[in-house]
Amino acid sequence: MGDSIASVLGKANPDRSDILAMLQCNEEEAPLLYRRAAAVRDRYVGNHVYLRGLIEYSNICGKNCLYCGVRSDNVKIERYTMSREEVLEAAMTAYKLNLGSIAIQSGENSSNSIVETVEELVRSIRKMTDNRLGITLSLGEQSRETYQRWFDAGAHRYLLRIEASSEALYRRVHPDDDMHRYHRRLECLKAIQETGYQTGTGVMVGLPNQTMSDLADDLVFMRDFDIDMCGMGPFIEHSDTPLGSRGTDNLFLNERFNLTLRMIAVLRIIMKDINIVASTAMQTIDPAGREKAISCGANVVMPNLTPARYRSGYLIYEGKPGYREADESNVSGLNLDLLPGTTVELGIWGDTPHYGRRRTVR
Ligand code: SAM
Ligand code: SF4
Repeated sequence: MGDSIASVLGKANPDRSDILAMLQCNEEEAPLLYRRAAAVRDRYVGNHVYLRGLIEYSNICGKNCLYCGVRSDNVKIERYTMSREEVLEAAMTAYKLNLGSIAIQSGENSSNSIVETVEELVRSIRKMTDNRLGITLSLGEQSRETYQRWFDAGAHRYLLRIEASSEALYRRVHPDDDMHRYHRRLECLKAIQETGYQTGTGVMVGLPNQTMSDLADDLVFMRDFDIDMCGMGPFIEHSDTPLGSRGTDNLFLNERFNLTLRMIAVLRIIMKDINIVASTAMQTIDPAGREKAISCGANVVMPNLTPARYRSGYLIYEGKPGYREADESNVSGLNLDLLPGTTVELGIWGDTPHYGRRRTVR
């Protein structure tokens, strides 16, 4: 018999076996884990939620990840790239709604014209908002030089999910070619961190053949890498993808949902002062999914500001909510009644104290 969850939660520096024990706690113990994680969040980063207005810039992608609806082999979707004016307008909406930050996300494209356009967009957004709007990028694997150019232009956070920290699992969910190498992804993540970005990564929870041991290793990976932010969510099938057409062979959706809550809670306990996203994928499975993630320690929500006409082109998985959240009466789309005492912090970048601490220590 292993340690009780209460004794594991009492440990100052949980090791891998403690992490596994927390992930595997039973249904009666889980609320204790969640409450502890929320208390850690409140103490180290505050009982509030930061917003990032999400701009899904383009669904043109050179990659072919086996899980993703935007993969290049999916000929059923219409490809788009938002115009410069549309991106600036969406950024201005975020600014006027006082969201504090935006996140620009896209399929992977390293062409010179995209690199230059993104650089110019970042500069323009910084200028037109008087440096008041924080900018996160999530534009996939790029060269060191490109990461540096975008950083110099004014982007300060970058999110690149490792997807699966186990190389063997990573290989199972990606094509076996030079475009999809685990080591390249890892090198990109290091380059992002070394460039000076607040660095985010994450994984999908519930991938076929993923084990609890893999998930414990994912959390250890994030701690060892000393990330500043995490965006992770349940894997959700898309029928026009190789992994989606196989059906669910491992964990069913609500199991993945509950496991993601545990992953968030344990990550909060082992990395107290980082930013953790309550992902849209959580909301796809349960309408109150993001609120539940927040009550388990998450502190970032990304309301979607992508123009409505492009939303159907950015269905990375099925059932993704398609409504427009840029509604001034309820910018985040969150139901704060479910989160007593929690406030949404408007008008600030919402940086993690972890980043400042990490930079000081080095
Ligand atoms: N192309 C960039 C990249 O891959 O880093 C950024 C955009 S990509 C759509 C953002 C994330 O979507 C990926 O990192 C992946 O974890 C997630 N994603 C893709 N397909 C998914 C699926 N079927 N279920 C859940 N998440 C998925
Ligand atoms: Fe492209 Fe990102 Fe989807 Fe992979 S996960 S196919 S890189 S958009």
